[in-house]
Amino acid sequence: MTDRRGFLKASVLGASAVALAGGAHALTGASGTNKGNTGARVISTWDFGVAANQAAWGVLSKGGNALDAVEAGVMIPEADLKNHSVGRAGYPDRDGHVSLDASIMDADGSCGAVAALEHIAHPIQVARRVMERTPHVLLVGDGALQFALEQGFPREELLTPESEAAWKEWLKTAHYQPSANSEVRDYGKTGMPGGKDNHDTIGMLAIDANGRLAGACTTSGMAWKMRGRVGDSPIIGAGLYVDGDVGGATSTGVGEEVIRNVGSFLVVELMRHGRSPQDACREAVMRIVKRRPAASKDLQVGFLAMNKHGEVGAFAIQSGFSYAVCDATKQDGLIPSKSVY
Ligand code: ASP
Repeated sequence: MTDRRGFLKASVLGASAVALAGGAHALTGASGTNKGNTGARVISTWDFGVAANQAAWGVLSKGGNALDAVEAGVMIPEADLKNHSVGRAGYPDRDGHVSLDASIMDADGSCGAVAALEHIAHPIQVARRVMERTPHVLLVGDGALQFALEQGFPREELLTPESEAAWKEWLKTAHYQPSANSEVRDYGKTGMPGGKDNHDTIGMLAIDANGRLAGACTTSGMAWKMRGRVGDSPIIGAGLYVDGDVGGATSTGVGEEVIRNVGSFLVVELMRHGRSPQDACREAVMRIVKRRPAASKDLQVGFLAMNKHGEVGAFAIQSGFSYAVCDATKQDGLIPSKSVY
């Protein structure tokens, strides 16, 4: 393990210019000017990933590890009352219950997750406790809540007045229709980065100064979903997958499609077989599109990946997906993903 870490560190530090997908952003000069953060990088899904990355960078730039960084990072949108697709203030299910999904994964395959968890504002912290303090990987529903309360997390009402008002408005038609993000950037108005979405996720991947990878993923899932519905985000291999020997991947969009294709695992396996992060994300998206060509015209799925060298890629079905990149050279990068449509 020590040897492998040493190799990874060398390969990250040795990269004088790591090109990122789309050519919009590059890491130049792991010059060591910022002590402790050379070669570290964090990426995450959507506009709200910028603030989340900065919190993660607070850990990475002090020489902290990737696992602590991704946990701290995704807690930002989990706590954001303007964000109606993650954590507290997430839109509820069709019966008015806010139910949250989250997962976390370390470079060595350790992982933990919670699904359909109610009343706990930071599901990512509970996911980490599942990983570190139980013999299990995934706890769901009442059992996940019981575990969280035993661990000392406070039981809270997560439905905010704004989310409740939106739910009551939805009840007038009660029509369940996941809507793909548009290009309109009015996240502040709607709580959804695409402007008219009713679903999104923060998926985050980080590599620390020692070349160690970790990932986290957290969401309130599809607004107005059936009670008990679980998306891709807490399913290891679907919404998140990390293999320290290869890289990591995470997803956003209609979770059912990601689960059907075990999307994040697929992206990592493609990288294992030599594909770049960008190519691997594209191939995983095309797998979904090819299997369901008609349906895919109206739905959004996006993948984001980083390999063990810190190279980044993304691809989505619809335009409008963006991802945030943060490293020693730039802490507020936001890059539009390439897409099929
Ligand atoms: N993947 C999430 C889910 O299906 C939603 C999203 O990211 O848009 O729960």
